[in-house]
Amino acid sequence: MIYFDHNATTPPAPAVVAAMLPVFEQLWANPSSQHGPGQGAKRALSAARASTARALGCKAQEVVFTSGATEANHMAVRGLLAAAGHGRRRVLFSAVEHAGHLRLARALAEAGVPVGFLPVCSDGTLDTTAAAGLIGPDVALVSLMAANNETGVLMPVAEVAALAHAAGAALHVDATQFIGKLPFDFARFGADAVSLSAHKFNGPKGVGALLLRQGQPFVPQTLGSQERGRRGGTENLPGIVGMAAALELLGGGDDVAAEAARQAALRDALERGLCALPAVHVWGQGAPRLPGTSYLRFGRVSADVVLNRLERLGVAASSGAACSSGGSEPSHVLGAMGVPRDEALAAVRLSLGRMSRADDVAHLLSALPPLLEPLLREEHAALA
Ligand code: PMP
Repeated sequence: MIYFDHNATTPPAPAVVAAMLPVFEQLWANPSSQHGPGQGAKRALSAARASTARALGCKAQEVVFTSGATEANHMAVRGLLAAAGHGRRRVLFSAVEHAGHLRLARALAEAGVPVGFLPVCSDGTLDTTAAAGLIGPDVALVSLMAANNETGVLMPVAEVAALAHAAGAALHVDATQFIGKLPFDFARFGADAVSLSAHKFNGPKGVGALLLRQGQPFVPQTLGSQERGRRGGTENLPGIVGMAAALELLGGGDDVAAEAARQAALRDALERGLCALPAVHVWGQGAPRLPGTSYLRFGRVSADVVLNRLERLGVAASSGAACSSGGSEPSHVLGAMGVPRDEALAAVRLSLGRMSRADDVAHLLSALPPLLEPLLREEHAALA
């Protein structure tokens, strides 16, 4: 199988699984227990926290382990909002946030919180002029993704951080798709809180973190003594150790940049080859993008049909956000970019990762065009 769905999830690296197994077998005691085994688990937790902090460019006490990005996103928004100063109640989300995060936006609005949305341009980039107009003195926080999971388009985090901070608002960034794919350093990133999820960078599922800037006002949402009172609940130590191992495997910023360049070259070759077919359109192609993501349509051939052909070729891909695929509703991301419904229903996402090779791209480029050409010709004839 050729796996081109790395934005949905990635396979855990063998070294990650190897790091986790002894934790299941030997370090299963509760890190909050006072006895010897508990203290052993606590030491492993501290070591994993220290190496997570080193890899992400933050302080150990700025790491709050969570069950993944969804939880980190929710607790960041609710926790920063609850701690905001008097008169600051508005929360701004970008219009292209992850589907789960936009559900939170809806829930807040239904509960009476003033919620606003930062629009994007037709290429998927943030409309920074509109953002500047919306980030006013009543804003408690802005919640913005670092990179979009569908288009791969990068958001101007530093610019929005400057706007938010000038207005006295906090900035939360969902960096779930960014971390592991491009060099990241919390201290220089500009955000007050950053969410991540280990399974997007060859770590285990069900574990992630919220990085919370030291001194940032924050009201805990899950009460308990763990994580310095910021997130209660017995820690998922095997997951946390696995995430730390996955971060270590990424190497330093130069290693991440080199892997990004390798994936970008593969992705560009893939797009060049596919664009030789008539009526292929790639979204966000001219915008700054994640290196391995390609979001495209083949004329108006429905994504289901294209995915079915890909499946026959042994290629696993996605019709957009994994969480919403399978449904017949077009992507809200493409909707926000002003893409018509019939074009959006043709959207296919190919996302490469660390195990993607030139041979995979060559296989797809030799096998897919003959399967799609007749469909595209048919469509062209029908439109003529
Ligand atoms: N944010 C973004 C941008 C994502 O791509 C995802 C995963 N699809 C999430 C949040 C949620 O991550 P998790 O399911 O691991 O909580």
